[in-house]
Amino acid sequence: MQGPSDETKAPSATTAETQSWHEQHGRYPQAVTVEDFRRNLAAVQARIDTACRRVGRAPASVRLLPVSKTIDAARIRLAYAAGCRVLGENKVQEAHRKWEAMADLSDLSWSVIGHLQTNKTKLVARFAAEFQALDSLRAAEALDRRLQAEGRSLDVFVQVNTSGEVSKYGLSPEDVPAFIQALPAFTTLRVRGLMTLALFSSEAERVRRCFILLRTLRDQLRQNAPAGIGLNELSMGMSGDFEIAIEEGATVVRVGQAIFGARALPDNYYWPSETTTEESHP
Ligand SMILES: *Cc1c(COP(=O)(O)O)cnc(C)c1O
Repeated sequence: MQGPSDETKAPSATTAETQSWHEQHGRYPQAVTVEDFRRNLAAVQARIDTACRRVGRAPASVRLLPVSKTIDAARIRLAYAAGCRVLGENKVQEAHRKWEAMADLSDLSWSVIGHLQTNKTKLVARFAAEFQALDSLRAAEALDRRLQAEGRSLDVFVQVNTSGEVSKYGLSPEDVPAFIQALPAFTTLRVRGLMTLALFSSEAERVRRCFILLRTLRDQLRQNAPAGIGLNELSMGMSGDFEIAIEEGATVVRVGQAIFGARALPDNYYWPSETTTEESHP
């Protein structure tokens, strides 16, 4: 069973604590040695453990997915040396380049966590182990076709827009039930659960509402999920808000800056609006 089913279980200290993490968000020092990575990974794991303990969850029920977007191969190799074996990337071409550059690390696998343009499905089908941003039947169809050609299958998460912001990708919550019912047609896609990006806000309770929405939706969908469609996973929470996500049932947290260091560019660079072309920036 996942975490608490209502907000009241979170002690009031949590909000203040989480807000202080929000303030630090974007101010993480750069990790440049294996030792830095070991320390940062341990610090993030300690934060995960503490959040789990607060709501009576087993720390092993939360998977940490380190997010290496914008980080070059040399530094990713340090993270690998510190123990990272799965990395999240939000841009397909960047991920594919890194996969090629690090093909010698045969036990390193890649999770694509950003929006997929249909013309890039071929790349994802070739190298990704997991895709967390499925949000259209068109993408599901294109992926399934490419995966069949490659003789591969893929773990997928359905991305849901829980913040209501137009700039965010993902299905509207009300569109998810019908979408899930259509997924068994795509036999190469192993559906694992739902993924979301919460509102970027320093108001912890508004962020929390996004996570509660995703969990509630998952719980409803699970009651009549089609055969073979797994809905156990909830991928939610990043460097600034993963404790709240864990309190609300996250089984995967996607953490970049708290492990690799602050990124120089603002967040809206990484989540371009629909009119911005992916990879149109240097
Ligand atoms: C970058 C990114 C993250 C991680 O964000 P941090 O602030 O670096 O922890 C999580 N999820 C997605 C989809 C991302 O693009």
